[in-house]
Amino acid sequence: MVSVPRLLFRTAPWLCAIHVMADPVVFTESDAREAFASAAGLVKDCTPRDAGTLRGRLAANWILDRASRTGVDAVLDKFRAETPDGEKSFANVVVEFQGTRTNAAWIVVMSHFDTMPNIGNGFQGANDGASTSGLLVALAGAIRRAGPQPDNIALVWTDGEECRVSYGPNDGFQGSRHLVDTYRTRHRAVKTAICIDMLGDRDLNITIPANTTPVLKKLALKAASRTGLSPKVALKKDIVVKDDHSAFLDAGCPAICLIDFDFGSAPGKNDYWHTPKDTMDKISSQSLLDSGRLIAEFLNMLQR
Ligand SMILES: [Zn+2]
Repeated sequence: MVSVPRLLFRTAPWLCAIHVMADPVVFTESDAREAFASAAGLVKDCTPRDAGTLRGRLAANWILDRASRTGVDAVLDKFRAETPDGEKSFANVVVEFQGTRTNAAWIVVMSHFDTMPNIGNGFQGANDGASTSGLLVALAGAIRRAGPQPDNIALVWTDGEECRVSYGPNDGFQGSRHLVDTYRTRHRAVKTAICIDMLGDRDLNITIPANTTPVLKKLALKAASRTGLSPKVALKKDIVVKDDHSAFLDAGCPAICLIDFDFGSAPGKNDYWHTPKDTMDKISSQSLLDSGRLIAEFLNMLQR
């Protein structure tokens, strides 16, 4: 991946926050039920949803409709990008909340919604793709309820996170790379990019991989402590995860990945990941509640 100098972005006022009164974002049990129902609906109506296919576009429109029902304005950001099979059409789904702070920077929360191609047997991507996409729908409603926040917040359901053949410059992460290009073009200051992935796992173990900005690792652990979730959140110094936050890191922006990369029949096996066993019965409303509360607290701490 090509490294982009950070100076192409405006500098985010990350360390000179001015206190602005705002209600905190609160993620409730009702939000967790909405997250689960949205994930289940996406799986039921849009399996498979491989990037660059008609069914992928169907999924983007499905999310657009579902997110809009929470009372927010959602839009499709359509674009074309190269793949190993030639140029294809993609679409991210975007919800933006305008911040109240002067020259507010952007906090970007991303979940991919596409399925990994070529798994076969009706691969659902229930945890890998659908669970956090449902979570993001519920988070949209929670942020809207909280009212104006100090920073600009963008929720982005990314297309094309999964690769077709093997991760490379034209294979995988098309949605997040397009997002970074857009922010660069618009001179948007990125305070923090947060990638969430596979956080519906009923046996929740959230990993913060090594390739995360150090100050955000500390903040995420503090958010875990404040929400009573420390036993379920761990730094993994020996694990590097290439995910949608990577494009932001490459561009010099602070970024974090929150992922459950221990998704299997026994600890350490990860044997449900990218297999037909990644089905709705492997995810739970409780895990979406825990993950949602962690992310909400993280958003609140980032802004205060
Ligand atoms: Zn995947």
